[in-house]
Amino acid sequence: MPPEYFSVKKVRYKKQSVPFTMTDTATCPCNSDRPYAECCEPLLCGDRMASTAEALMRSRYTANVVRDVAYLLKSWHPSTRPDTIDPATIPYWCSLHIVRTEKGMESDSEGVVEFKASSFIQEELWQLHEVSRFMKEDGQWLSISFEK
Ligand SMILES: [Zn+2]
Repeated sequence: MPPEYFSVKKVRYKKQSVPFTMTDTATCPCNSDRPYAECCEPLLCGDRMASTAEALMRSRYTANVVRDVAYLLKSWHPSTRPDTIDPATIPYWCSLHIVRTEKGMESDSEGVVEFKASSFIQEELWQLHEVSRFMKEDGQWLSISFEK
């Protein structure tokens, strides 16, 4: 079973048909169709801050894929973030689809991103459907909460 805070649901799939691009360094793991070096990498490296809530959400997804625990904690609001994340509990995410966004633009201080993400857990495909809330503090977007 996946860890409780992911609360994913199992979906049917044909293993051969699942696009698995995690090892492809040319394209960003967040499914933006942009090069990793121009998309999430500068955010994970700390070279650039996320300009929108969606950009932060995408970078947190990518941080899951590359198992960047420090970035996950740094981009999580202190009021809701766990003390630590065990990288061994992070599922193998293989796709991200943004369903909708609400506010979260550069001029906003809060935003909502609804998304679906798929992951492999014990060789089965699971889907997470989540509505994440973000807020901006001192110019930095942070993940504050999520509901399924
Ligand atoms: Zn990206």
